[in-house]
Amino acid sequence: MVQKKQFQNQIIYIKRDDLLSNDFSGNKARKFYYYLNHDFPKVKKIISYGSAQSNAMYSLSVLAKLKGWEFDYYVAHLASYLEENPEGNYRYALDNGMNLHVGQVNAMSSNEESVLYIEEGGREIYAEVGLKILAEEILEWKQEQGIEELNIFLPAGTGTTALYLQKHSIDKVFTTPCVGNSHYLKEQFLMLEKDEKIHPTIIIPSKKRHFGKLYRESYVIWLELQKQMGIEFDLLYDPHGWLTLLENPKLFDKPLLYIHQGGLIGNESMLKRYKRKYDENI
Ligand SMILES: *Cc1c(COP(=O)(O)O)cnc(C)c1O
Repeated sequence: MVQKKQFQNQIIYIKRDDLLSNDFSGNKARKFYYYLNHDFPKVKKIISYGSAQSNAMYSLSVLAKLKGWEFDYYVAHLASYLEENPEGNYRYALDNGMNLHVGQVNAMSSNEESVLYIEEGGREIYAEVGLKILAEEILEWKQEQGIEELNIFLPAGTGTTALYLQKHSIDKVFTTPCVGNSHYLKEQFLMLEKDEKIHPTIIIPSKKRHFGKLYRESYVIWLELQKQMGIEFDLLYDPHGWLTLLENPKLFDKPLLYIHQGGLIGNESMLKRYKRKYDENI
Protein backbone atom coordinates (compact mmCIF):
# COMPACT_ATOMS: atom_id res chain seq x y z
CA MET A 1 0.00 0.00 0.00
CA VAL A 2 1.14 3.54 -0.79
CA GLN A 3 -0.23 6.60 1.03
CA LYS A 4 -0.04 10.20 -0.03
CA LYS A 5 0.89 12.46 2.88
CA GLN A 6 2.17 15.89 3.65
CA PHE A 7 5.09 16.62 5.94
CA GLN A 8 6.48 20.10 6.59
CA ASN A 9 4.93 21.44 3.39
CA GLN A 10 6.33 18.62 1.27
CA ILE A 11 4.02 16.16 -0.46
CA ILE A 12 5.36 12.68 0.00
CA TYR A 13 4.27 9.16 -0.83
CA ILE A 14 4.89 6.44 1.76
CA LYS A 15 5.19 2.79 0.81
CA ARG A 16 3.79 1.02 3.88
CA ASP A 17 5.82 -2.15 4.00
CA ASP A 18 5.40 -1.99 7.78
CA LEU A 19 1.85 -3.21 7.16
CA LEU A 20 2.75 -6.31 5.11
CA SER A 21 1.83 -8.61 8.00
CA ASN A 22 1.98 -8.63 11.78
CA ASP A 23 4.90 -10.99 12.26
CA PHE A 24 6.82 -10.80 9.06
CA SER A 25 6.94 -7.23 7.85
CA GLY A 26 9.12 -4.42 6.64
CA ASN A 27 12.19 -4.89 4.52
CA LYS A 28 13.08 -8.10 6.36
CA ALA A 29 9.96 -9.67 4.86
CA ARG A 30 11.29 -8.63 1.44
CA LYS A 31 14.82 -9.77 2.16
CA PHE A 32 13.76 -13.14 3.57
CA TYR A 33 10.96 -13.70 1.04
CA TYR A 34 13.05 -16.23 -0.87
CA TYR A 35 13.62 -18.34 2.24
CA LEU A 36 9.97 -18.22 3.26
CA ASN A 37 8.71 -19.22 -0.18
CA HIS A 38 11.11 -22.01 -1.05
CA ASP A 39 11.34 -25.54 0.24
CA PHE A 40 14.59 -26.54 1.86
CA PRO A 41 14.05 -30.26 2.54
CA LYS A 42 17.50 -30.74 4.07
CA VAL A 43 17.55 -27.69 6.30
CA LYS A 44 16.91 -28.09 10.01
CA LYS A 45 18.47 -24.97 11.41
CA ILE A 46 19.16 -21.30 10.73
CA ILE A 47 22.42 -19.83 12.01
CA SER A 48 23.00 -16.11 12.03
CA TYR A 49 24.71 -13.42 14.09
CA GLY A 50 24.55 -9.71 14.89
CA SER A 51 23.24 -7.49 17.67
CA ALA A 52 20.84 -8.65 20.36
CA GLN A 53 18.24 -6.06 19.35
CA SER A 54 18.36 -6.56 15.62
CA ASN A 55 15.21 -6.50 13.51
CA ALA A 56 16.72 -9.19 11.28
CA MET A 57 17.18 -11.46 14.30
CA TYR A 58 13.50 -11.17 15.17
CA SER A 59 12.38 -11.82 11.59
CA LEU A 60 14.62 -14.89 11.38
CA SER A 61 13.05 -16.21 14.58
CA VAL A 62 9.65 -15.91 12.90
CA LEU A 63 10.94 -17.61 9.76
CA ALA A 64 12.42 -20.50 11.79
CA LYS A 65 9.18 -20.91 13.68
CA LEU A 66 7.07 -20.94 10.51
CA LYS A 67 9.40 -23.51 8.95
CA GLY A 68 9.78 -25.64 12.06
CA TRP A 69 13.54 -25.07 12.12
CA GLU A 70 15.87 -24.38 15.00
CA PHE A 71 17.41 -20.95 15.22
CA ASP A 72 20.90 -20.37 16.63
CA TYR A 73 21.89 -16.74 16.94
CA TYR A 74 25.29 -15.41 18.00
CA VAL A 75 25.94 -12.06 19.66
CA ALA A 76 29.35 -10.64 20.56
CA HIS A 77 27.97 -9.56 23.92
CA LEU A 78 24.70 -9.33 25.73
CA ALA A 79 24.05 -6.39 28.04
CA SER A 80 23.17 -7.63 31.51
CA TYR A 81 20.23 -5.23 31.63
CA LEU A 82 18.72 -6.85 28.55
CA GLU A 83 19.47 -10.35 29.79
CA GLU A 84 17.61 -9.61 33.01
CA ASN A 85 14.82 -7.62 31.36
CA PRO A 86 14.20 -9.08 27.91
CA GLU A 87 12.30 -6.64 25.69
CA GLY A 88 11.68 -5.70 22.08
CA ASN A 89 13.14 -7.87 19.33
CA TYR A 90 15.24 -9.84 21.81
CA ARG A 91 12.28 -10.81 23.94
CA TYR A 92 10.02 -11.83 21.06
CA ALA A 93 12.78 -13.77 19.33
CA LEU A 94 13.31 -15.75 22.55
CA ASP A 95 9.55 -16.34 22.70
CA ASN A 96 9.82 -17.78 19.18
CA GLY A 97 12.40 -20.29 20.40
CA MET A 98 15.68 -18.61 19.43
CA ASN A 99 18.80 -20.16 20.99
CA LEU A 100 21.05 -17.27 21.90
CA HIS A 101 24.80 -17.79 22.10
CA VAL A 102 27.30 -15.23 23.32
CA GLY A 103 30.48 -15.61 21.32
CA GLN A 104 31.80 -16.14 17.83
CA VAL A 105 29.78 -17.97 15.22
CA ASN A 106 31.53 -21.03 13.86
CA ALA A 107 31.99 -20.37 10.15
CA MET A 108 32.38 -24.10 9.46
CA SER A 109 28.74 -24.68 10.27
CA SER A 110 27.81 -22.70 7.15
CA ASN A 111 28.94 -25.65 5.02
CA GLU A 112 26.57 -28.16 6.54
CA GLU A 113 23.59 -29.14 4.42
CA SER A 114 21.23 -29.01 7.35
CA VAL A 115 22.17 -25.40 8.11
CA LEU A 116 20.93 -22.26 6.46
CA TYR A 117 23.59 -19.69 7.29
CA ILE A 118 22.48 -16.08 7.00
CA GLU A 119 24.81 -13.09 7.11
CA GLU A 120 24.30 -10.29 9.61
CA GLY A 121 21.27 -8.17 8.76
CA GLY A 122 20.32 -10.52 5.90
CA ARG A 123 23.03 -9.22 3.58
CA GLU A 124 22.47 -12.06 1.10
CA ILE A 125 22.14 -12.31 -2.66
CA TYR A 126 18.83 -14.11 -2.19
CA ALA A 127 17.35 -10.86 -0.88
CA GLU A 128 17.14 -9.80 -4.52
CA VAL A 129 14.13 -12.05 -5.13
CA GLY A 130 11.85 -10.25 -2.68
CA LEU A 131 13.18 -6.80 -3.53
CA LYS A 132 12.46 -7.31 -7.21
CA ILE A 133 8.84 -7.83 -6.20
CA LEU A 134 8.92 -4.57 -4.25
CA ALA A 135 10.27 -2.79 -7.35
CA GLU A 136 7.47 -4.30 -9.45
CA GLU A 137 4.82 -3.18 -6.96
CA ILE A 138 6.21 0.35 -7.10
CA LEU A 139 6.17 0.34 -10.89
CA GLU A 140 2.57 -0.86 -10.99
CA TRP A 141 1.50 1.80 -8.48
CA LYS A 142 3.33 4.49 -10.46
CA GLN A 143 1.52 3.52 -13.65
CA GLU A 144 -1.87 3.53 -11.91
CA GLN A 145 -1.15 7.02 -10.62
CA GLY A 146 0.12 8.26 -13.97
CA ILE A 147 3.43 9.27 -12.38
CA GLU A 148 6.19 9.37 -14.96
CA GLU A 149 9.30 9.78 -12.89
CA LEU A 150 9.89 9.21 -9.22
CA ASN A 151 12.62 9.61 -6.63
CA ILE A 152 12.77 6.79 -4.12
CA PHE A 153 14.33 7.27 -0.68
CA LEU A 154 15.10 4.84 2.13
CA PRO A 155 17.68 4.76 4.95
CA ALA A 156 20.31 1.99 4.83
CA GLY A 157 21.95 -0.42 7.25
CA THR A 158 23.70 -3.07 5.18
CA GLY A 159 22.32 -1.32 2.08
CA THR A 160 20.93 -4.58 0.72
CA THR A 161 17.40 -3.24 0.37
CA ALA A 162 18.43 -0.05 -1.41
CA LEU A 163 20.84 -1.92 -3.68
CA TYR A 164 18.43 -4.49 -5.04
CA LEU A 165 15.60 -2.00 -5.22
CA GLN A 166 17.80 0.20 -7.42
CA LYS A 167 18.84 -2.78 -9.52
CA HIS A 168 15.21 -3.42 -10.47
CA SER A 169 13.88 0.16 -10.61
CA ILE A 170 14.02 2.52 -13.53
CA ASP A 171 13.72 5.40 -11.07
CA LYS A 172 16.55 6.70 -8.98
CA VAL A 173 16.96 5.24 -5.50
CA PHE A 174 18.58 7.50 -2.88
CA THR A 175 19.81 6.27 0.46
CA THR A 176 21.88 7.39 3.42
CA PRO A 177 24.08 5.36 5.76
CA CYS A 178 22.78 4.81 9.31
CA VAL A 179 25.54 2.35 10.24
CA GLY A 180 29.05 3.55 9.46
CA ASN A 181 29.82 6.18 6.82
CA SER A 182 29.24 6.38 3.09
CA HIS A 183 32.51 4.58 2.43
CA TYR A 184 31.35 1.64 4.52
CA LEU A 185 28.00 1.61 2.73
CA LYS A 186 29.73 1.58 -0.65
CA GLU A 187 31.75 -1.43 0.48
CA GLN A 188 28.55 -3.17 1.50
CA PHE A 189 27.11 -2.56 -1.97
CA LEU A 190 30.26 -3.90 -3.59
CA MET A 191 30.05 -7.13 -1.61
CA LEU A 192 26.77 -7.88 -3.36
CA GLU A 193 27.15 -6.09 -6.69
CA LYS A 194 30.37 -5.22 -8.51
CA ASP A 195 28.69 -3.06 -11.13
CA GLU A 196 28.74 0.40 -9.58
CA LYS A 197 26.51 1.78 -12.32
CA ILE A 198 23.54 0.09 -10.71
CA HIS A 199 24.34 1.15 -7.15
CA PRO A 200 21.90 3.51 -5.39
CA THR A 201 22.88 7.16 -4.93
CA ILE A 202 24.30 7.81 -1.48
CA ILE A 203 23.26 11.04 0.23
CA ILE A 204 25.89 12.11 2.74
CA PRO A 205 24.27 13.25 5.99
CA SER A 206 25.32 16.65 7.31
CA LYS A 207 25.70 15.15 10.77
CA LYS A 208 27.21 11.86 11.79
CA ARG A 209 24.91 9.95 14.11
CA HIS A 210 26.02 6.74 15.77
CA PHE A 211 23.77 3.78 15.25
CA GLY A 212 21.68 3.04 18.33
CA LYS A 213 22.61 6.27 20.11
CA LEU A 214 19.91 8.70 21.22
CA TYR A 215 19.66 12.19 19.73
CA ARG A 216 17.18 14.83 20.71
CA GLU A 217 16.51 15.86 17.10
CA SER A 218 15.84 12.23 16.19
CA TYR A 219 13.21 11.89 18.88
CA VAL A 220 11.68 15.26 17.98
CA ILE A 221 11.31 14.37 14.30
CA TRP A 222 9.95 10.91 15.14
CA LEU A 223 7.23 12.52 17.29
CA GLU A 224 6.55 15.08 14.58
CA LEU A 225 6.23 12.43 11.85
CA GLN A 226 3.70 10.61 13.96
CA LYS A 227 1.77 13.77 14.74
CA GLN A 228 1.62 15.16 11.22
CA MET A 229 1.12 11.94 9.26
CA GLY A 230 -0.31 9.51 11.81
CA ILE A 231 2.43 7.00 11.00
CA GLU A 232 4.76 5.37 13.48
CA PHE A 233 8.25 5.03 12.02
CA ASP A 234 11.16 3.01 13.31
CA LEU A 235 13.42 4.76 15.85
CA LEU A 236 16.78 3.41 14.70
CA TYR A 237 16.93 4.20 11.00
CA ASP A 238 14.02 6.43 10.11
CA PRO A 239 14.77 9.59 12.17
CA HIS A 240 18.25 9.84 10.63
CA GLY A 241 16.73 9.00 7.25
CA TRP A 242 14.10 11.74 7.47
CA LEU A 243 16.50 14.35 8.86
CA THR A 244 18.85 13.69 5.96
CA LEU A 245 16.09 13.61 3.37
CA LEU A 246 14.73 16.98 4.53
CA GLU A 247 18.20 18.53 4.19
CA ASN A 248 17.97 17.73 0.49
CA PRO A 249 14.87 19.48 -0.85
CA LYS A 250 16.08 18.85 -4.42
CA LEU A 251 14.91 15.27 -4.02
CA PHE A 252 11.37 16.65 -4.00
CA ASP A 253 11.76 18.01 -7.53
CA LYS A 254 10.11 14.76 -8.59
CA PRO A 255 7.35 12.95 -6.70
CA LEU A 256 9.11 11.32 -3.75
CA LEU A 257 8.41 7.83 -2.44
CA TYR A 258 9.70 6.98 1.04
CA ILE A 259 9.90 3.29 1.86
CA HIS A 260 8.67 2.48 5.37
CA GLN A 261 10.82 -0.55 6.16
CA GLY A 262 9.04 -1.68 9.33
CA GLY A 263 11.04 -2.40 12.47
CA LEU A 264 8.36 -1.31 14.92
CA ILE A 265 8.90 -4.15 17.38
CA GLY A 266 12.34 -2.69 18.05
CA ASN A 267 10.67 0.59 19.03
CA GLU A 268 9.53 -0.89 22.32
CA SER A 269 12.99 -0.74 23.86
CA MET A 270 14.15 2.38 21.98
CA LEU A 271 11.10 4.36 23.03
CA LYS A 272 11.67 3.53 26.69
CA ARG A 273 15.23 4.80 26.43
CA TYR A 274 14.08 7.97 24.63
CA LYS A 275 11.36 8.65 27.17
CA ARG A 276 13.75 8.24 30.06
CA LYS A 277 16.23 10.63 28.47
CA TYR A 278 14.12 13.39 26.95
CA ASP A 279 10.44 13.26 27.79
CA GLU A 280 10.58 15.79 30.57
CA ASN A 281 11.97 18.60 28.48
CA ILE A 282 11.01 17.95 24.90
C1 LIG B 1 16.94 -3.69 8.62
C2 LIG B 1 16.34 -2.34 8.52
C3 LIG B 1 16.90 -1.34 7.72
C4 LIG B 1 18.19 -1.54 6.95
O1 LIG B 1 18.05 -2.42 5.86
P1 LIG B 1 19.31 -2.79 4.97
O2 LIG B 1 18.78 -3.68 3.90
O3 LIG B 1 20.25 -3.54 5.87
O4 LIG B 1 19.91 -1.54 4.47
C5 LIG B 1 16.26 -0.11 7.64
N1 LIG B 1 15.13 0.14 8.32
C6 LIG B 1 14.57 -0.80 9.13
C7 LIG B 1 13.34 -0.44 9.87
C8 LIG B 1 15.15 -2.07 9.24
O5 LIG B 1 14.58 -2.99 10.03
